[in-house]
This record gives sequence, structure tokens and C-alpha cells, in this order.
Amino acid sequence: MTTIILQNARLIDGTGADPVTDAVLVIEDDKITYAGAADGAPKAADGAVTVDVGGNTVTPGFFDCHVHLSLPGTKGSPIMDAMVPPSYRYFELLDRLKVTVEAGITTVRDLMGTDVGVRDAVKHSLMPGPRLLVADKMFSQTGGHADFHIPSHINGTPLVGGLLVDSVDEARHHVRALLRDGIDVVKVASSGGVTSPSDDPDWLGARTEIVAALVEEAQNYGGRKVAAHAIGYAGIKAAVQGGVHSIEHGYALDDDLRQEMVGRGQYLVPTLIETLKPDTATPQAVAKSTKWHALAHESIQASAEAGIKIAVGTDAGLVPDHGDTLGELGCLVKFAGMTPMQAIVAGTKTSAELCGVDETLGTLEAGKIADVVVVKGDPTADIDSLKDHDNILLVLKEGKAMGNRGGYAL
Ligand SMILES: [Zn+2]
Repeated sequence: MTTIILQNARLIDGTGADPVTDAVLVIEDDKITYAGAADGAPKAADGAVTVDVGGNTVTPGFFDCHVHLSLPGTKGSPIMDAMVPPSYRYFELLDRLKVTVEAGITTVRDLMGTDVGVRDAVKHSLMPGPRLLVADKMFSQTGGHADFHIPSHINGTPLVGGLLVDSVDEARHHVRALLRDGIDVVKVASSGGVTSPSDDPDWLGARTEIVAALVEEAQNYGGRKVAAHAIGYAGIKAAVQGGVHSIEHGYALDDDLRQEMVGRGQYLVPTLIETLKPDTATPQAVAKSTKWHALAHESIQASAEAGIKIAVGTDAGLVPDHGDTLGELGCLVKFAGMTPMQAIVAGTKTSAELCGVDETLGTLEAGKIADVVVVKGDPTADIDSLKDHDNILLVLKEGKAMGNRGGYAL
């Protein structure tokens, strides 16, 4: 058995409890066996590796509940993706996975474009990366957010991972096939989108009965959850009333729908950090992005104050770049009115609950899996310090070092 003891730590355990100074974290193999004040820590076992983290902060591994690892962020473009064979794109994932986990993100939910093979390859340690939950495809109707037929008549839909269904029966058929493949979560677009070429976020996407059919199939065949891309009001309403588990974006929420989300226990993943840049997107998409993100920043505080459960997601790959997730925590403080501690809880415990993995992940407590991050200084005093990768000193996933900028002797 391998025992690692992190001592001289400021402990933020992810539960929302006050930080504990002079704390100790004990890890045995892949599990946490103690997290708390040095006073009450167990005696170090023979052969334990003891690391003094120098008064820096220990947090749970963070989550990004909305990424697209198959997309390049600002480092490429969909046209370049179309110019290489499919196998080449798998090798492009290697750096994105590495950058993400080294930035302190130990679990991601990939909501389109990454399949179960990538998830399992990381799980089996063929390559370093965060733990993945994958949707593989995104559902919408023909002409909706998942439809990437472009005006030249070239069909980019399979390239990005779109899946078009126009009836309840088609939806049931295709989602059963994905569930057979072993996906973790179902993704549907119930509103139009910013990047899709032929619709608008105000437009209705997949209708309520299609959303409800996906929810029913996902529940019946494996107890999977459904995440809905929904920006405008009509799409948010269809998703909320179709019974999804999370609303992604949710910018045009009104007070009635906020109360309905609270009543149904639905989560919001507001992706506040993303704003398309003119150098990587079409002018139409940039105009849509600017308009809708202004609304996002205006509406999120009312959503937070209504008591909706808020998790952290970014649309990394679209914008921002992979690894830039923790900038979202600063956005939650700035725009949603959260305290830094509340933003950290959103990125750990609440996100773990949304992903359905909170029994084993999301907080630093005895018995949980040892996904642990050491960050420089005190992020409750400077939440934006988390987005500087140089401040992410150590990342452990299941007790194994995935990043060690602090140069700790493990
Ligand atoms: Zn997305």
C-alpha cells in the first residue's frame, strides 16, 4: 500500500465549511483516509511519503461539467478538423486531456464529440487525462443546433457529433443505440445556438415531447441523465418541462421557470466564461455570442438567488481553451454574486452531484477517492488566482500525480 500525507496545508474540503489551517490529508492508495486538523491526524504509517505543502491550499479535484475535447478552442478551426483523417483527431486529444488535468480538473463531462473509447482509454491509463463522462452525440431536429449542414451543402454534422431526429420514435431509436454503446449522459439541444449556422438561440429546438422521450429512455436503460443546451426562453421551457437533469447556458430564464427548476431539482450550468472571438468564428456567430453573453451576465444573479443548483461548465474547446476551466469560478463571483467559497463548492461538490458521482468524489472526506489539488496561496482571497496554471502546484487523480508544478517529492 502507498500512503501519502500532505501536511502544513490550508484545507478547503469542498463542503462549504470554513478552511482549516494547519491541516493534514492522508491518502492510502486511491482513497482519502483522513482530512482535517493536524491535531486529530492519525500517526504516520511506516513508509508513508510525507509532503509539506508549505501552507498552500488543498482542494478537491475540480469538475468541468461542459467540455468538448474534440474541438480545438482558439488553437484551430472546424475547417482544419475537416482536413485530417478521423484517427489524426484522436492524437489531438492527448494534449487537451493533459492540459486539462494539469490545470486541476480531474473530472469532465464531455457533451458532444468524444466517445466511450476515449473515456475508457483514459480510465485504463493509456494516456493521462481527467476522468470522463461522455455524451458522444448531441440531438436536435433537422435545421437545429446539432445540424451543421453549411450553405455550401457540405454536411459537417457527423464531424462535430450532431445527431438529427425529427420524431419521438427516431429519438428513442437513436438514444437506445447510444445507451447500448455505453454513454454516461444524453445531450439534447432544445434551443437554437450561437455556433450553429442556420438557427438562432431564440428558436425552439427539440420539442418537449422529444426531450421527454430522451429522458424516459435514458432513465429506463441505465439511469442516465439528460443535459439540455438551452439558451432562449422557448428552448429552456421545453427542456425544463421535458424533465432534463441540467440546463446548459439557460440565459433567458424568467422567474417562473427558475421556480420550476428549483421545484424539479434541476441544475444550471451557466458557462459564463465563453465569448466567441472574431478570429475563430464567423461574424454571425460572434454577433450572436456577444448579445447572448451580455444577457448571461445579467440574468445569472437572479438564477443563483432563486436557489437553482449551479454547477461549473465552460464549453471548453468551443471557447475557452482546454484547461481554462477555473476562470469560470471568478465569473460566478463577479456575475452571480457568489462568494469565492460558494464558487469552489459549485466546481466540486455541486458538480459531482450533477454528474451523479458525489458518493465518491467532489469533497475531501475520509472514504472518498483521492482527487486532490494543491493550489498556491488562498483562493478564497483571490478566486482568479485559480485560472493561472502556474498556481496549480499538484494534481492527484485517484492518488496518482497527474501534474506536479510544485516539484513535491512524491
Ligand atoms: Zn457545448
